Amino acid sequence: MAADCIFCKIIGKEIPSEFIYEDDDMIAIRDINPKAPVHLLIIPRKHIRSINDIEAVDEALLGRMMTVAKGLAVKEGTDKSGYRVFFNVEKGGGQEVFHLHLHLVGGFDRG
Ligand code: AMP
Ligand code: ZN
Repeated sequence: MAADCIFCKIIGKEIPSEFIYEDDDMIAIRDINPKAPVHLLIIPRKHIRSINDIEAVDEALLGRMMTVAKGLAVKEGTDKSGYRVFFNVEKGGGQEVFHLHLHLVGGFDRG
């Protein structure tokens, strides 16, 4: 938990947000400003600033985030048509919220 971190506040339910997925390690929510018909954010409960800050101990978590992303792509019906998963890293990489999150963007064929 980091002070003044919007994603820590969402995880801690200080800010209401619908979790479309959750387990002991992570949550997933819909992006508030979607760039595509499907735009999800997979967010670890652990406050990690960015990919620059990951350590060997986080490797299993990062792997599981990918597996959760795959499952959510199936659930959202965008697995066959395709999608992108990516991390923005620091300001120059487009990161605006400094709590690690994996974007899942797809559903382009669904209009
Ligand atoms: P990034 O630019 O990679 O840091 O992505 C941050 C994303 O979080 C942006 O796409 C925002 O639209 C999204 N976002 C910011 N605040 C919220 C929120 N309260 N609920 C859902 N998504 C949010
Ligand atoms: Zn945080």
